[in-house]
Amino acid sequence: MHPILEILSQGEEIITGQTVDTNSAWLAHQSVELGFHVSRHTAVGDNLTDLIKVLTEISQRAACCICTGGLGPTCDDLTTEAVAQAFGLPLLFDEEAFNQITHFYALRNRRMPESNRKQAMLPTSSERLDNEWGTAPGFAVHVNQCWFIFLPGVPTEMRNIFLAHVKAKLVNRFPLQVKTLVTLRTFGIGESEIQQRLHAIQLPDDIQLGFRAAPNEVQVKLVFPADSLPEYIYAHVALYTQELAEFIFAIDGLGKETGDLFETIDACMTQKNLSMAVIETFSQGLIASFCGRGNWLLDAQYHHSIKNLCTKLNVTFQMDNICLLAQELVLAFKVHTDADIILIQLVAGTAEQKRDKHQLLDVHTMLQVQGHFYHHHKALAGDFKNKQHHAACLALDWLRRHI
Ligand code: ATP
Repeated sequence: MHPILEILSQGEEIITGQTVDTNSAWLAHQSVELGFHVSRHTAVGDNLTDLIKVLTEISQRAACCICTGGLGPTCDDLTTEAVAQAFGLPLLFDEEAFNQITHFYALRNRRMPESNRKQAMLPTSSERLDNEWGTAPGFAVHVNQCWFIFLPGVPTEMRNIFLAHVKAKLVNRFPLQVKTLVTLRTFGIGESEIQQRLHAIQLPDDIQLGFRAAPNEVQVKLVFPADSLPEYIYAHVALYTQELAEFIFAIDGLGKETGDLFETIDACMTQKNLSMAVIETFSQGLIASFCGRGNWLLDAQYHHSIKNLCTKLNVTFQMDNICLLAQELVLAFKVHTDADIILIQLVAGTAEQKRDKHQLLDVHTMLQVQGHFYHHHKALAGDFKNKQHHAACLALDWLRRHI
């Protein structure tokens, strides 16, 4: 059984759409990972009656509720007052909270406005959650069947307090059974094609399968029951990795921390002590900027015109055989760099094909790794920015496959 948890966001700017409620998404993710069943997300504006009503309802149906926002010093910050009124818990002055808020201002050489005193008023019987990252402390209180946690709305403060003070309390307080989530992170294949490839694999009923399209990747998610043995998990993950092998750049949830496509490449280049030099045309420096975090990128150039690039490297310009042209450019460029890997990107297409989202553009990536050439080309669709972005990601994925 997974304890039921609800998430409550407070603030007029949330319900009117001026601020996207990223707090709820982050908290839901954390809570599910801990083993809660997240049953509901609710958002309430700056209205005391609404807040009191929803807090009362939640206290009668959920085992836990995490609420963010409305703990500030201004008159529209109503959460603490709503808790006091909903549950008959008069606000008490918390001296330690007050000292922390005063200290926060003193450290920044600022005088504390009188209104901040309000943030040191906490409901009777609540437990203060220290906020070392801002002024408003959070607090936790148990009412009816529910343990409420109230955190400030500012995302960095909310996350820091959750990780430093709340997470361990949740684990101690609730009988949590943590499911195992394994995420296969792929690039270069769409959701529907993945689904087609995996169609024939029969999964036992206790394993849940899901897909998620995220920026620069499509994820395949496998959720295993809490008591799954490692062999059971590995055997089923293996069925999927066999089908998708070439597209998988990282696997999360098997004990090793991974990152996105660029972090994976960075880690691999650093670990293998490899270096690279790159010449971009169409993506105008995007490849270099994606590699930005690694000092393994020895040389990065951008050339708008392939003709000029050929002149500069003393290579005969021709577009009849782009693969051959790219090879010659790599060899000519190699003379100027000590890098282990050379990557050159070329495009074959008119200005119209680059700009028009309905026209395809042929993008070529030539890679030289340890004396071997690897050529890749793909016709890209989309508007100019999309094609550029895709071309840069494709080039780096091509690199990933050969290191
Ligand atoms: P403060 O002491 O800063 O007033 P607070 O607890 O009162 O903290 P709010 O005033 O409700 O928090 O929100 C402060 C800021 O935090 C908002 O202006 C908004 O930028 C951000 N924020 C609030 N709630 C959320 C949310 N659910 N998701 C993302 N950002 C949020």
